[in-house]
Amino acid sequence: MYEDFAKVFPPPMKIRILGASGGIGAQARTTSILVDNDILIDAGTGVGDLTLEELRAIDHVFLTHSHLDHVTMLPFMLDTVGASRAQPLRVYAQEATLATLRTHLFSGELWPDFSRIPTPEAPFMTYHVLPAGGELTLDRRRVRSIPVTHVVPAVGYLLSGAKGSLAFSGDTTTTEEFWRVLNATGDLKHVIVETSFLDAEEQLSRVSKHLCPSLLAAELKKLKPGPRVHITHLMPGEEDDIMREIARHIPDNTPRRLERGQVFEL
Ligand SMILES: [Zn+2]
Ligand SMILES: [Zn+2]
Repeated sequence: MYEDFAKVFPPPMKIRILGASGGIGAQARTTSILVDNDILIDAGTGVGDLTLEELRAIDHVFLTHSHLDHVTMLPFMLDTVGASRAQPLRVYAQEATLATLRTHLFSGELWPDFSRIPTPEAPFMTYHVLPAGGELTLDRRRVRSIPVTHVVPAVGYLLSGAKGSLAFSGDTTTTEEFWRVLNATGDLKHVIVETSFLDAEEQLSRVSKHLCPSLLAAELKKLKPGPRVHITHLMPGEEDDIMREIARHIPDNTPRRLERGQVFEL
């Protein structure tokens, strides 16, 4: 009976922000988002605030790209709870991202190759290619990868639950496909987009393929009105100045700063 009830009234997907900073220090944690209790989007330093029980419950990790601020807690997660989990942790990303992890991070030198430990037949982690543009449904929750534009191959994710969708850009500079997909998503409620630097650092934004407030304002002109926009990946120490510049460029419907601990239900 309860199963039927859940089918008719599916519980909302709960999205909890574990880290929303471009760096570390004091209250800052790098990119990580927990979906319900079992899906993680990026494994930045925010993952380190989870309890052992919460860490153990994560079955799926989707990575936007290979940069350390987005993957750094993955090696520690596996070392900490790998042996006490019944199943391997499933790590999804595009092929280029997984190749970087295999070659550099879980190389056996920087960290053990947990895709073969303790045995190749029953390892702590398994790699799963999700090509840019691909999607996967896990118990009613749909995760769609969307290509974005960064210095290494990178994607954003569109997360869809029973009550709507939330899009997350990951790290990106000026890009096209991301906005096209968002505009075609009828139930889009929230967009989380990065803005790493100040306008004075526009040149740095361009070479490191991030966004600054003026570039963000131009990007948001590509988005149909409707969804609420939240800003992530702000450089520690520059958060208030970056948000002030954003407010100057976008005086109406000014995006809000994404906060660690913030929860969305969709
Ligand atoms: Zn990056
Ligand atoms: Zn980053």
